Amino acid sequence: MERTVCFSIDVEPDFGNLLPKDQYYGKHHLSTLKRIAEQYDLKITAFVTGKTLEDNPDIIDSLRSMRAEIEQHSYSHITNGNSKIKDIAQGIEAHKRLLGTLPLGYRAPKGIITKQELIYLEKSGIKFDSSIFPTVFPGRYNRVGFPTEPFNVEGSNIVEMPFATIPKVRIPISLSYMQLLGLKMFRSLFKLFGLPRLIVYDFHTFELGITRSYNELKLIPRLEYFRAQRNYKDPATVFEEFVKYILDKGYRSKYMIDVYRQLIPNLHVRRWNGD
Ligand SMILES: [Zn+2]
Repeated sequence: MERTVCFSIDVEPDFGNLLPKDQYYGKHHLSTLKRIAEQYDLKITAFVTGKTLEDNPDIIDSLRSMRAEIEQHSYSHITNGNSKIKDIAQGIEAHKRLLGTLPLGYRAPKGIITKQELIYLEKSGIKFDSSIFPTVFPGRYNRVGFPTEPFNVEGSNIVEMPFATIPKVRIPISLSYMQLLGLKMFRSLFKLFGLPRLIVYDFHTFELGITRSYNELKLIPRLEYFRAQRNYKDPATVFEEFVKYILDKGYRSKYMIDVYRQLIPNLHVRRWNGD
């Protein structure tokens, strides 16, 4: 495959579930994304929660106006408990009802997915999943043993398209990390370790500008997002600079569903029996 970049945005309440009540201030940054997408001819893939679709019909209009591919991101973005499968089903149902199409792709909230959930997704008609971070998140999971390129999990035909990480050091190539470490640092790391052929780049609406609801975060998450929200006059410049950088390197922007269709034959199969 030629060098490919998928710009995948997660559309959900501001800062995931970290605010005491769902807020969607970040949706106002979608106009910035539209401007950048049009200027550089980007194909945007959006993973949207069912509740976000229900509460914000204007988000559907914004995404359609930039010709984004719209896929599923669960109903309420919960990450624990026995009701996760129910939440996935509810998200797919909301997607069908509000968009009139079946979702073909799925991303789990915070990338927390189990094999059982993958099998459920496949039964529901989902063709690809993009939830695995092949790296270590202390306290969350260790997925260093997972492939960094698309693969099949044994016993299922669903294609997993993992998030991009820097080769060898496995640092996620995502907007939140770029805002945290600075694009300059990323450029040096790319020079040292190279770039993967396929980049599934992850970002969120609330990262694309100064997001007012930041002030309502509790102390710890506030520290986590401090640099992104307070260090940049306009946090979207970090995104736009990366877009320019990666297109300059010869990468082509594609929808994830198109990459999926290109991939299907002879994928690597990985054994995975747990969560
Ligand atoms: Zn999310």
